[in-house]
Amino acid sequence: MINSDEKRGLIFNIQKFSIHDGSGMRTLLFMKGCPLSCLWCSNPESQSCKIEVMDVKKNCIKCQKCYDICPKGAIAKEDFRIDRSLCDGCGACTQKCYAGAKKSVGQWYSIPEIMEKIEKDQLIYRNSEGGVTVGGGEPILQADFVSELLKACHSVNIHTAVETCGCGSWDNAKKVFDHADAIFFDLKHMDSSQHKTLTGAENRSILQNAESLAKMDKTIVFRLPLIPSFNDSKKNLEETGAFVASLSGSQSSVKIEILPYHNLGQDKYRWLSKGYSLESLRHPEAEHVEACRTILRNQGCNVI
Ligand code: SF4
Ligand code: SF4
Repeated sequence: MINSDEKRGLIFNIQKFSIHDGSGMRTLLFMKGCPLSCLWCSNPESQSCKIEVMDVKKNCIKCQKCYDICPKGAIAKEDFRIDRSLCDGCGACTQKCYAGAKKSVGQWYSIPEIMEKIEKDQLIYRNSEGGVTVGGGEPILQADFVSELLKACHSVNIHTAVETCGCGSWDNAKKVFDHADAIFFDLKHMDSSQHKTLTGAENRSILQNAESLAKMDKTIVFRLPLIPSFNDSKKNLEETGAFVASLSGSQSSVKIEILPYHNLGQDKYRWLSKGYSLESLRHPEAEHVEACRTILRNQGCNVI
């Protein structure tokens, strides 16, 4: 878990007026830091637990201010590229870059600072039956902060939801889930070694946490990011469906949703000096997505 003190959390994006990831109109909070590194991640800036700098070359006007201010000599004079091995993320260059080419990712917030932003939209949440959704990155990695934040939302009657990859200790997961009204829980692959290849970690603790979560009285939506040729085999879909159906039992509030692959985050890999290995992968066709939904339904799942 990130060693944040209990009053501050590292967040990399606050998105207001979202109609995704929960009911009604919502504020989405994206926590920074994730135990996984999925090949298709559309938020690669979420993965590191540290504040980072994005280098958006197309915005650069070559004013040289970043080069002049950098205390580590991490910026090349020829093209103002960042040498990541020298950069410590101090953010000095981002303060000087008025063109928006050097952008800081991640900021520490206290609970009152976040609540002030959230509570401005109380009326919108109430009128739309919306609320707040905490995702990431991974909320469980900052469990103390996130659970306090969700409690603060409940204290002023704001609906709460959490998006999680489920990877972490059950103690930390429970701290977060206890104060969430709805939980969106990713299931990326049922085979542990395949899961490790795709995400960097095995799936054992994730499946155990899913089983424990299913025993809580919560609205649960399992989510399968559908990545063509990686996890869309009939075998994996049947196993995923059977697992979710076994957890649903008498709980009609357990559902599953397919999230078709897209490559919208691809540019961000370049801005972080990272490689994107799925460059040639295409979006799944609508007919294929529907066929995958049918396989899940045939296993007895409530597919949305
Ligand atoms: S401060 Fe920004 S615009 Fe100026 S050279 Fe550096 S990256 Fe380019
Ligand atoms: S974040 Fe700090 S160390 Fe890194 S490139 Fe910018 S000024 Fe240099």
